Amino acid sequence: MAAQPAERAGVRSASEPAIDSRSRVLLVDDSPENLISLEAALEGLGAELVCAGSGMEALRHLLDQDFAAIILDVKMPDMDGFQTAEMIRSRKRSRHIPILFLTGYKSDEHLFRGYDLGAVDFLFKPVVPEILRSKVNVFVKLSLNTELLRQQTETLSKAEQKFRSLLEAAPDAMIIGAEDGRISLVNSQAERLFGFRREELTGENIQTLLPEWKGLQASAGSHKEVRAIRKDRSCFPAEISLSPLNTEEGLLVTSAIRDITERKKIDEAIRELNARLEERVTERTRELREANEALRQSNDDLSQFAYAASHDLQEPLRMVALYGQLFQKRYAEKLDEEAGRSLGFMITGAQRMEMLLRDLLAYSQTGSDQDPAGPVDCQKILSKVALNLQAAIEQNKANVTWGRLPEVRAHEIRIVQLFQNLVGNAIKYRSEEAPTIRVSAEKQETNWLFCVEDNGIGIKPEYSQQVFGIFKRLHGHSYPGTGIGLAICQRIVERYGGRIWVEPATPQGSKFCFTMPRAAGERLPPAVNRTPAAVGV
Ligand code: ADP
Repeated sequence: MAAQPAERAGVRSASEPAIDSRSRVLLVDDSPENLISLEAALEGLGAELVCAGSGMEALRHLLDQDFAAIILDVKMPDMDGFQTAEMIRSRKRSRHIPILFLTGYKSDEHLFRGYDLGAVDFLFKPVVPEILRSKVNVFVKLSLNTELLRQQTETLSKAEQKFRSLLEAAPDAMIIGAEDGRISLVNSQAERLFGFRREELTGENIQTLLPEWKGLQASAGSHKEVRAIRKDRSCFPAEISLSPLNTEEGLLVTSAIRDITERKKIDEAIRELNARLEERVTERTRELREANEALRQSNDDLSQFAYAASHDLQEPLRMVALYGQLFQKRYAEKLDEEAGRSLGFMITGAQRMEMLLRDLLAYSQTGSDQDPAGPVDCQKILSKVALNLQAAIEQNKANVTWGRLPEVRAHEIRIVQLFQNLVGNAIKYRSEEAPTIRVSAEKQETNWLFCVEDNGIGIKPEYSQQVFGIFKRLHGHSYPGTGIGLAICQRIVERYGGRIWVEPATPQGSKFCFTMPRAAGERLPPAVNRTPAAVGV
């Protein structure tokens, strides 16, 4: 068959594989002229032509090079073409290289011997270049295609190797199978997890291992908890996630499976622990509530006792003081000086005791309000307090001022008591200077902070705790009082969930501060365009 002109010129169509310039053809002929004409005929093929002048030389080339085809002259001195072909076939490397014999005779004996030795074709001299080129071209293309196929197989096997390594490297058991669940591939984690060998699993249906598998396909991509069965029929909880993949061979589903026995145990332990903790919290809350109730009961009992005692004692005491005074009036002249003085002590003692009982009564009643707390406007309270203390304010030329004060949730009577005790003390414990008393409030995160600041004699920091104790007085002899006022203040503030303390004021005096809880969103009233209220300047 004559070669196409395009081939002769080395031009090829797009569908044909490229003729690799390294595709070699071995030309073996003892006649240099023949070799030259063979070369000339095959030049346009684009193959590398290697010439050998004898069978020996051809064998040498075949030792270290691969060839797409060998064109072998039959008639050569020393080692003829058939002998050379025999040697070529006996070597592993060259066994499959196609041989085209060149011969001058068309004898049957030659043909048989040649085909016996694996010849693929015969070319008869004189060689027609087109026929030679066309035949050699077939073998060159064949060799090229074989090489391409080899490379593709190698790439494929590398890719498969890579895929298998990836599958093995996965932390979970991986099972790959068809849409109907037939398993085609598993990793060793799957073998270990289910107790089956790879060969036992391949071809099996995955539902033997995971009975709920079929129903999971709709929720591909998400993690689901299922029951898994091992080879020994034991069950365990597993988490599974499916990833479907459309391939030429149909849908492939990869199932990633993880044993979650341990995780479930931990979850269960946490749940149990939480339940136990909740039980303990409930139990403890109940105990605390009971203890609180008992405490409240005993507080109530104590308050009732204090109330009863101070109330019942007041009357006989008033009698003592009254009759003492009457006695003093009526028999003053009959009594000697010593008896008159003693009677005077007795009367002041009884009066003082009366005062003490009155304050004790007030203390015992603090915190026993039954009606619910309501909104109390502190600004109004301060006006009331200033009015109650008007006499003392005027007498001492005191200056009592307050700024914007908020509303608090409390009992009005208690807030009056609180501010009256603090402002009253601020006037009572005045210094040489005229008393200046300032009441203020500021917003904190969850509280209101109130301050009552004076310029009086002040309290040494080491006594700042003691002054809130019942009957505790620092300046007992020089000032009237019972030492209960601040204890009452503390009781009131704490009853509403606040705290009270005292700190030195600058440059002198005391600053009594206390907090009251603030409801979220509660603000100070808007500023009014006037000077703060001032009383008794
Ligand atoms: P009383 O005023 O009846 O003595 P309080 O409980 O009100 O009792 O006060 C306790 C003590 O704290 C007072 O005796 C006084 O020594 C001291 N004190 C209270 N307020 C002030 C003040 N504003 N400045 C200086 N000392 C004060």
